[in-house]
Amino acid sequence: MALLISPDDRHHGVLNVSQSILDSSALFTSINMRLENVDITTGETLNQSDFKEVFGQGATGKGIEIRYDDKGQKYLWLFAKETGRYDDNIGTDKFRYTGEDPQGPGVENPGQEDQELKRGNAALREALNTPVPIFLFYQPAGRDGWEYRGMVNVVSFEYKPRNGRYIYEFTLEPIKNKSETPLDIDGQEHTPDIHQPPQTSISVSRIIRNTQLTKEIKEKYDYNCQICGETRRGNNGDPYAEAHHVQPLGKPHNGPDEESNILVLCPNHHADFDYGRAKIDTQTYEVEHADRSEIDGTELSIAPGHDLEGKYIRYHNAGIAQF
Ligand SMILES: [Zn+2]
Repeated sequence: MALLISPDDRHHGVLNVSQSILDSSALFTSINMRLENVDITTGETLNQSDFKEVFGQGATGKGIEIRYDDKGQKYLWLFAKETGRYDDNIGTDKFRYTGEDPQGPGVENPGQEDQELKRGNAALREALNTPVPIFLFYQPAGRDGWEYRGMVNVVSFEYKPRNGRYIYEFTLEPIKNKSETPLDIDGQEHTPDIHQPPQTSISVSRIIRNTQLTKEIKEKYDYNCQICGETRRGNNGDPYAEAHHVQPLGKPHNGPDEESNILVLCPNHHADFDYGRAKIDTQTYEVEHADRSEIDGTELSIAPGHDLEGKYIRYHNAGIAQF
């Protein structure tokens, strides 16, 4: 079966922010809505109702929950049980995490249908390239409540057969340095370009530096996409663009976090690069697109002073592009 990747879980904008406020405001007066104010210690056990107290938002019982704090910082909660059909095996080193099953009224055979790259699965897949804080909770057999096991990074994923259907299996790795707390970064960012390499601890200074870098390069382009020239609008109508690392950060790519390795793109064209639907000729900067004729053959815009390096584009063309 072909691995189909749909970028439809790229949530941005006002909708998500107001949704997260709606989720929390009905029953709880928010005091801890900012991620930087979240106070939780590894080993602590939370009951369902404690989530509101700690995060300002309640848990709904899904395996993977996508959350935004009140500055629009995206984060995830992952829930894993010692028993149960997911059979997640949580160790102290890398471990595998089975994605979530299709949900909703269209599902005829719960637990037996092929998993899809939507919602939580898409969010974990996206976190491979654009890391966000991921809080892992674990429920030992026979217990209520969820033990907080610290934060994890997504190292890789596979779409593979299991028991007569296809599932997503994510390889996750605990973040070792527990003393550092992920912070919300930039109120304008809905999917912040934190991009810390998945193999390293989250470091506050590193996040700030990266955010500054991506902010500067976006400003160089006035938030216009280098492919199509469009600018999207984010919160309050502010201009919105995304920074794409051409040779991705983290394993297995280990690209550098430098301007020479970054493109400024709209969300659609960011998805096209993440999923290998576009290439760039390093001589002519002509864009080659797998399925969009209006883009195919156009020229990449490069701002004066943006020293984009051909070696990273070649890496993308050879190793990430899928056509
Ligand atoms: Zn674009």
